[in-house]
Amino acid sequence: QVNAFALPGGKIGVYTGLMEVATNQDQLAAVIGHEVGHVIAEHGNERMSSSALINIGMEVTNQLLQTNQIATSHLIMAGLGLGVQVGVQLPFGRTHETEADLIGLELMARGGFDPRESMTLWENMAKVSGDNRQPELLSTHPLPATRISNLSNNMDNAMLFYNAATTKPNCS
Ligand SMILES: [Zn+2]
Repeated sequence: QVNAFALPGGKIGVYTGLMEVATNQDQLAAVIGHEVGHVIAEHGNERMSSSALINIGMEVTNQLLQTNQIATSHLIMAGLGLGVQVGVQLPFGRTHETEADLIGLELMARGGFDPRESMTLWENMAKVSGDNRQPELLSTHPLPATRISNLSNNMDNAMLFYNAATTKPNCS
């Protein structure tokens, strides 16, 4: 599916489906920045059930087992256990979404990722949803057009951070 999440404690998950929508490093940075933005802002009125969290844990562990990183998988599971205690917070309201978008925009720009690509990401996301394949990331989120206009309104500021960034990562 087209989705990603961040857990309190710093663990980040990105579904492989997202890689079809985020077509470069900057767009991926926009998604991760958004998810980390939720954690930094300590969002969340509703909590994910323990069973949903366990499912994610099993999925993560399965992926790791497939790549023979068994020792690491125990650390991840420990991290998820911490997540249960602290509380994983989904879904988010629209105000929280906008806030996470803007925190993410600043984070990616400070990290040297082109903030303008955040708008392209949501354009790509809109195309996929027109395809009869509703991305999970969109189901609880505002319309792409709304987010693009919010991002656009804050782009001048983001470009200042981007231009001031001392490193421009090249992940490709
Ligand atoms: Zn969100």
